[in-house]
Amino acid sequence: MSDCLFCKMVAGEITPDIVYETDSVLAFRDINPRAPTHVLVIPKKHIPTLADMTEDDTLLMGEIMQAAKKVAEMEGLADSGYRTVFNCKQDAGQEVYHIHLHVLGGRAMQWPPG
Ligand code: 5GP
Ligand code: ZN
Repeated sequence: MSDCLFCKMVAGEITPDIVYETDSVLAFRDINPRAPTHVLVIPKKHIPTLADMTEDDTLLMGEIMQAAKKVAEMEGLADSGYRTVFNCKQDAGQEVYHIHLHVLGGRAMQWPPG
Protein backbone atom coordinates (compact mmCIF):
# COMPACT_ATOMS: atom_id res chain seq x y z
CA MET A 1 0.00 0.00 0.00
CA SER A 2 1.92 3.01 -1.30
CA ASP A 3 -0.14 5.55 0.66
CA CYS A 4 0.06 3.75 4.00
CA LEU A 5 2.29 5.37 6.64
CA PHE A 6 3.31 2.10 8.26
CA CYS A 7 3.98 0.40 4.89
CA LYS A 8 6.36 3.29 4.18
CA MET A 9 8.20 2.42 7.40
CA VAL A 10 8.40 -1.24 6.35
CA ALA A 11 9.74 -0.13 2.96
CA GLY A 12 12.33 2.13 4.60
CA GLU A 13 10.89 5.31 3.07
CA ILE A 14 10.26 6.66 6.58
CA THR A 15 12.61 5.68 9.39
CA PRO A 16 10.96 5.24 12.78
CA ASP A 17 12.84 4.55 16.02
CA ILE A 18 12.97 0.77 15.60
CA VAL A 19 13.34 -1.33 18.75
CA TYR A 20 12.82 -4.84 17.35
CA GLU A 21 12.44 -6.47 13.95
CA THR A 22 11.94 -9.93 12.46
CA ASP A 23 11.24 -11.12 8.91
CA SER A 24 7.52 -10.58 9.49
CA VAL A 25 7.11 -7.82 12.09
CA LEU A 26 8.52 -4.40 12.98
CA ALA A 27 8.39 -2.70 16.40
CA PHE A 28 9.09 1.02 16.81
CA ARG A 29 8.47 3.82 19.31
CA ASP A 30 5.20 5.73 19.04
CA ILE A 31 5.80 9.33 17.96
CA ASN A 32 3.33 10.54 20.62
CA PRO A 33 4.01 8.29 23.60
CA ARG A 34 1.17 7.82 26.11
CA ALA A 35 3.38 6.06 28.66
CA PRO A 36 7.12 5.93 29.48
CA THR A 37 7.30 2.97 27.09
CA HIS A 38 4.96 3.12 24.08
CA VAL A 39 5.95 0.84 21.23
CA LEU A 40 3.89 -0.17 18.19
CA VAL A 41 4.27 -3.69 16.81
CA ILE A 42 3.14 -4.04 13.19
CA PRO A 43 3.07 -6.86 10.67
CA LYS A 44 5.15 -6.10 7.58
CA LYS A 45 2.11 -7.27 5.60
CA HIS A 46 -0.55 -4.60 5.10
CA ILE A 47 -3.72 -5.54 6.99
CA PRO A 48 -5.96 -2.47 7.59
CA THR A 49 -7.76 -3.52 10.78
CA LEU A 50 -8.23 -6.48 13.07
CA ALA A 51 -11.54 -7.03 11.26
CA ASP A 52 -9.61 -7.66 8.01
CA MET A 53 -7.47 -10.42 9.47
CA THR A 54 -8.07 -13.85 7.88
CA GLU A 55 -7.28 -17.39 8.98
CA ASP A 56 -4.14 -17.15 6.84
CA ASP A 57 -2.91 -14.47 9.26
CA THR A 58 -3.11 -16.67 12.36
CA LEU A 59 0.63 -17.36 12.58
CA LEU A 60 1.47 -13.73 11.81
CA MET A 61 -0.79 -12.48 14.62
CA GLY A 62 0.99 -14.86 17.00
CA GLU A 63 4.30 -13.42 15.86
CA ILE A 64 3.01 -9.94 16.74
CA MET A 65 2.18 -11.13 20.25
CA GLN A 66 5.59 -12.81 20.58
CA ALA A 67 7.24 -9.57 19.47
CA ALA A 68 5.24 -7.62 22.07
CA LYS A 69 6.50 -9.97 24.78
CA LYS A 70 10.07 -9.54 23.52
CA VAL A 71 9.77 -5.75 23.44
CA ALA A 72 8.36 -5.72 26.98
CA GLU A 73 11.32 -7.76 28.18
CA MET A 74 13.78 -5.48 26.38
CA GLU A 75 12.09 -2.42 27.94
CA GLY A 76 12.25 -3.91 31.45
CA LEU A 77 8.48 -4.33 31.76
CA ALA A 78 8.25 -8.09 32.13
CA ASP A 79 7.91 -7.99 35.94
CA SER A 80 6.00 -4.72 36.48
CA GLY A 81 3.58 -5.43 33.64
CA TYR A 82 2.27 -3.64 30.59
CA ARG A 83 -0.80 -3.19 28.43
CA THR A 84 -1.31 -4.37 24.86
CA VAL A 85 -4.04 -2.80 22.71
CA PHE A 86 -5.39 -3.18 19.19
CA ASN A 87 -7.69 -0.29 18.33
CA CYS A 88 -10.16 -1.46 15.69
CA LYS A 89 -11.95 1.17 13.55
CA GLN A 90 -13.58 4.44 14.54
CA ASP A 91 -15.21 3.64 17.88
CA ALA A 92 -11.85 2.51 19.23
CA GLY A 93 -10.10 5.59 17.84
CA GLN A 94 -7.99 3.81 15.22
CA GLU A 95 -6.06 6.47 13.29
CA VAL A 96 -3.64 4.43 11.19
CA TYR A 97 -5.30 1.75 9.09
CA HIS A 98 -2.47 -0.79 9.19
CA ILE A 99 -2.83 -3.18 12.14
CA HIS A 100 -0.62 -2.25 15.07
CA LEU A 101 -0.37 -3.55 18.60
CA HIS A 102 0.28 -0.84 21.19
CA VAL A 103 2.67 -1.95 23.97
CA LEU A 104 2.38 0.50 26.86
CA GLY A 105 4.22 0.36 30.17
CA GLY A 106 6.29 2.09 32.78
CA ARG A 107 3.33 3.47 34.73
CA ALA A 108 0.14 2.14 36.33
CA MET A 109 -2.76 1.94 33.83
CA GLN A 110 -6.40 2.84 34.36
CA TRP A 111 -9.23 0.39 33.75
CA PRO A 112 -11.55 0.54 31.91
CA PRO A 113 -9.91 2.60 29.15
CA GLY A 114 -11.78 5.72 28.13
P1 5GP B 1 -4.20 4.20 16.60
O1 5GP B 1 -4.94 5.37 17.14
O2 5GP B 1 -4.41 4.02 15.11
O3 5GP B 1 -4.46 2.93 17.38
O4 5GP B 1 -2.68 4.49 16.85
C1 5GP B 1 -1.85 5.10 15.89
C2 5GP B 1 -0.59 5.48 16.60
O5 5GP B 1 0.38 5.79 15.63
C3 5GP B 1 -0.76 6.69 17.52
O6 5GP B 1 -0.42 6.34 18.85
C4 5GP B 1 0.20 7.70 16.91
O7 5GP B 1 0.86 8.48 17.89
C5 5GP B 1 1.17 6.84 16.13
N1 5GP B 1 1.76 7.50 14.99
C6 5GP B 1 1.10 8.26 14.05
N2 5GP B 1 1.97 8.73 13.13
C7 5GP B 1 3.20 8.24 13.50
C8 5GP B 1 4.50 8.38 12.93
O8 5GP B 1 4.72 9.04 11.91
N3 5GP B 1 5.53 7.76 13.57
C9 5GP B 1 5.32 7.01 14.71
N4 5GP B 1 6.40 6.43 15.26
N5 5GP B 1 4.11 6.86 15.26
C10 5GP B 1 3.05 7.47 14.66
ZN1 ZN C 1 0.20 -0.59 5.43
